[in-house]
Amino acid sequence: MFQNFFPDKMVRSTYDIDFEKLYKDGVRGLIFDIDNTLVPHGAPADDRARALFRRLKDIGFACCLLSNNRARRVEMFNKDIKVNYICDARKPSRANYEKAMKLMGTDKSNTVFIGDQLFTDIYGAKRTGIANILVAPIHPKEEIQIVLKRKLENIVLYFYKNK
Ligand SMILES: [Mg+2]
Repeated sequence: MFQNFFPDKMVRSTYDIDFEKLYKDGVRGLIFDIDNTLVPHGAPADDRARALFRRLKDIGFACCLLSNNRARRVEMFNKDIKVNYICDARKPSRANYEKAMKLMGTDKSNTVFIGDQLFTDIYGAKRTGIANILVAPIHPKEEIQIVLKRKLENIVLYFYKNK
């Protein structure tokens, strides 16, 4: 039950991920959700996000932002980050996960997806066949439809943790 939604891995924060180890393990492309994964919902890139992407580029990763949000929001975040991006991504639809890999020149074998939502982010990555990491959302203040979705997510995660 619910296996389709189980993340490969779960961590407290994007900023806790050992990216150096991922690179050592052969990962070359990283796809990121933005809102609540890298910064609070709707926020511009902060120092922590800027430093992370500087580090990722130094390590040698190709990166792509994959957001269901509009162009204006994604471009505002990416202004100082300057990586590939796809807005209006329609996650969990597979198409733009594929496009992200094409933009980065990577494939399913060496790409990892990082996001905070099970039913869009993680489900889409799993359908596409990409390794994935679920992170706890950065900001507790969320829109009501996301709050409701979280309750469903918690049910799935209950079964995931007890599997
Ligand atoms: Mg998100």
